[in-house]
Amino acid sequence: MKKLANKIALVTGGSRGIGAATVRRLASDGALVAFTYTNSAETAEAIVNEINAADGRAIAIRADSSKSADIIHAVNKTVAEFGGLDILVNNAGIYIGKDFQEHTIEEYDQLMDVNVKAVYVAALEAVKHLKAGGRIITIGSNMADNAIGPQTTLYTMSKSALQGFTRGLARDLGPKGITVTLVQPGPTHTDMNPDNTEQAGYLRSRMALPNYGSVEDVAGLVSFLASDEGKQITGSWVTVDGGLNA
Ligand code: NDP
Repeated sequence: MKKLANKIALVTGGSRGIGAATVRRLASDGALVAFTYTNSAETAEAIVNEINAADGRAIAIRADSSKSADIIHAVNKTVAEFGGLDILVNNAGIYIGKDFQEHTIEEYDQLMDVNVKAVYVAALEAVKHLKAGGRIITIGSNMADNAIGPQTTLYTMSKSALQGFTRGLARDLGPKGITVTLVQPGPTHTDMNPDNTEQAGYLRSRMALPNYGSVEDVAGLVSFLASDEGKQITGSWVTVDGGLNA
């Protein structure tokens, strides 16, 4: 039997990058997977078709993480479609990097709404459905522990907030048998952080392993934490950064 057989998962931002790899990995481990996207309707549909053609089950839901009503809708649609929820993966995130003085309050709202508030809202809605054995897994960043350089204040601040969220909620949900964990990727080749830029060369020079991570490296860890093997891990995080923070 596959390790996530009959589990029901919702992954936010599952149309590209780390989220798409996580959707594929959870589905190949046997989970029924719903995922959200904002713009990439065609890509989302292709992922659904690919999973369904391989005898898995997936659905794509257009839901903007910056809108609380969309997130609540995504959780409820997942439950209505599959009959419950076992695993919430908060993956959707955005990056805005620029000199601190150039930031606007609108950018603060935009980034914090997606990177922090959406995580909180999704968890708030998900706990209505999660049972013992449930999982809340959030994708943070190695930058929560290492700001790396200038122009990172806003993003680093948002990802650090997820550490507090993870610690606190683990205490709230522990008595119910639900774990809350944080996966902190380092440089990982995606549209957000391609491995062939000048910035990528700099990041690679700071890593213990001089290789960019792959989306599968992160998805594999999410799968482990979602499975029964991860049942004793809660309130803490694992950093998958090729030793950038070492
Ligand atoms: P990408 O930009 O490659 O993909 C982002 C995904 O999130 C897409 O599926 C996109 O949907 C979706 N998304 C973006 N905004 C929203 C929104 N408002 N509502 C719903 N979905 C949204 O990002 P990555 O895969 O690189 O990053 C995924 C997560 O990993 C983020 O939280 C990021 O901060 C984190 N991370 C990434 C690192 C890296 O090096 N790549 C390093 C550390 C952390 P659509 O296709 O429709 O636009």
